[in-house]
Amino acid sequence: MHPTNDPALRSFVPVSPECHFPIQNLPYGVFRWKGESDRHVGVAIGDFVLDLGCLVEAGLLDDVDRADILFTAEDLGPFMAAGREVWSAARSAISQLLRDDEPTLRDNPILRRRALVPLTEVEMLLPVNIGDYTDFYASREHATNVGSMFRGPDKALMPNWLHLPIAYHGRASSIVISGVNFHRPVGQSNRSTAAHPTFGPTQALDFELELGFLIGPGNPLGKPIPVAEAADHVFGCVLVNDWSARDIQQWEYMPLGPFLGKNFCTSISPWVVPMLALEPFRVAGPPQDPLPLPYLRSSGDWAFNIELEAWLQPAGSPEPERICRTNARHLYWNICQQVAHHTVNGCNLRTGDLLATGTVSGPDPGSYGCLLELTWNGGKPLRLRSGAIRAYLEDGDGLTLTGWCQGSGYRVGFGSVTGSVLPALG
Ligand code: MN
Repeated sequence: MHPTNDPALRSFVPVSPECHFPIQNLPYGVFRWKGESDRHVGVAIGDFVLDLGCLVEAGLLDDVDRADILFTAEDLGPFMAAGREVWSAARSAISQLLRDDEPTLRDNPILRRRALVPLTEVEMLLPVNIGDYTDFYASREHATNVGSMFRGPDKALMPNWLHLPIAYHGRASSIVISGVNFHRPVGQSNRSTAAHPTFGPTQALDFELELGFLIGPGNPLGKPIPVAEAADHVFGCVLVNDWSARDIQQWEYMPLGPFLGKNFCTSISPWVVPMLALEPFRVAGPPQDPLPLPYLRSSGDWAFNIELEAWLQPAGSPEPERICRTNARHLYWNICQQVAHHTVNGCNLRTGDLLATGTVSGPDPGSYGCLLELTWNGGKPLRLRSGAIRAYLEDGDGLTLTGWCQGSGYRVGFGSVTGSVLPALG
């Protein structure tokens, strides 16, 4: 166990048992003071963000190689590219400074006021320049449900699904940080298989509950990453809402896959939970049968016991309501297999690339990670406590994803990713 993951550790910064940011988490993010433009790299602790640039100035991160460059950068890119040894040293140094038995920061009120900024006073930004975004389709339950709807239960899984982690190249330019709202997309659809398609605002706007892994060091073009080395290339994890327009998607997806039904907006949570913080929550994934080809055989447990929830706040309703509760441990293909598969042909990953899991669905209907499944393509609308009925999202609806690993008396959490639907433009 990495010493920073000791469940007995406590910080001098108060952290409640439900708070997502105890000393065992220490997720990284990029923030600015509200109303200012300077970007800062920080770590969340309790209801505060610890400004790492301040710690560098005070000479408190001298044990971390090139800390002066890494933590005064515009975003997390340089730190993410630095690799595991630097990540481990930084985490150890930051954890030590935040411990309740460590006086350096605790007993220095001037530095503490400068370095510990209330989360209410900052605005979070994208943590890194995401150059490429790949979306996998790693949940067997999700793939089976969608396949059953569109092709029938006997042909639910395509013949390749159990042999390789299916994915498509998504669009990085439209990835936004939590809190950014977007306009309902317009496009072509042909849901009734009429003679001619129609054009207009999507009538089947959906969310997708996903996790996203951010790449640390990349690989040179032409040099695949072996499955056993894949973990060295993964820096951390965020929540992803891969907003989808199902009617547009259904009409356009054959034969080249998703396009405008997917690329109008993808939201991510601002705090990157480092893989080191997730170590204690690694669990065995579902058994893989048939055995994958040798280049996809990972050893060790690479599923993660992460509780995941989706909350819908219908337009005009005073509060959100939980509509999905699932767990990342259900995912069939793991991140090591995804990295190995993505690069096996020589494709190069770069620092900041986002590899999302695809919709995380579990075995029972309450654990489906999108409305397509929850309402069975609109056929069984959700009846919410507020009285609202939803087949798909309506204008003014807000959707929030959250997730956490449950420790003994603390939560290593992801915070949340939220977004609201604005009316179509024009
Ligand atoms: Mn997706």
